[in-house]
Amino acid sequence: MRRPLLTLLTGASALAIVLSERRYPLRRPTQAEPRRTARNVTLGALALVTVQALENPVVQPLASCVERRRMGLAQRLPAPAWARDALAFLLLDYTIYAWHILTHRVPALWRFHLVHHLDMDLDSTTALRFHAADMAISVPYRAAQVALLGASPRALRLWRAFFFVSVLFHHSSLRLPFRLERILSRVLTTPRMHGIHHSSVRSQAETNWSSGLSLWDHLHGTFQLDVPQDSLRIGVPAYRDPAELAVVPSLLMPFLPERPAWGESPGACACRRNPDAGGAPAT
Ligand SMILES: [Zn+2]
Repeated sequence: MRRPLLTLLTGASALAIVLSERRYPLRRPTQAEPRRTARNVTLGALALVTVQALENPVVQPLASCVERRRMGLAQRLPAPAWARDALAFLLLDYTIYAWHILTHRVPALWRFHLVHHLDMDLDSTTALRFHAADMAISVPYRAAQVALLGASPRALRLWRAFFFVSVLFHHSSLRLPFRLERILSRVLTTPRMHGIHHSSVRSQAETNWSSGLSLWDHLHGTFQLDVPQDSLRIGVPAYRDPAELAVVPSLLMPFLPERPAWGESPGACACRRNPDAGGAPAT
């Protein structure tokens, strides 16, 4: 696919997601607007600058080198270029599933990923709410993905466009008909799935790690969809003060003493499955 067409499709998809979630909201917001959106967009802008300054100058030339020298797993495959790119795309997506688990399980990484999970509401602006250092520390991982998996510039470009739209989509508060979402979630990470990952109940937050294809959660038994969205308490139990979600406190947070994040959530009993829902979400 040509670059301008891919950019146009990515932009149109992003706009459609943002407009649709306003019209068909899935979860009720709890924080004051437009302050929350302004904070998320500001953090997102800093994260974007970091990606442009640190990640792109490393991974783009590396992907060209990988293709030229036929380096990495996919490039070693005796197959046409499209098949090598398809394999690289899948492997990039799978290793992001693994990276997401690491960002929760490795204390030094969790300090930065926590800033993303602090948001007490979840919509497409949460998709922008990443600590700039979270982007910086993922550069060596991204470089290793490209070099070891054998991602050509085309595979990397296609996966990045897909990943960007997917991240906006699954963070969005877009209410899809449940039957449609159940079908979609067999293949893609969906808004209800990721809402459960942002729950303040740890056992729920430690499910639905996928960021693109949901295949990886199905494969590893970490998929969950049957938690009613209106019973979810979004956020992290130890960080419920809205003042801590502001830009400066969020940027400083990873460098300050950490509190036990999960504690006993007051919302825990409200987040149990709805017995009247017959295994299906109430919303
Ligand atoms: Zn997470």
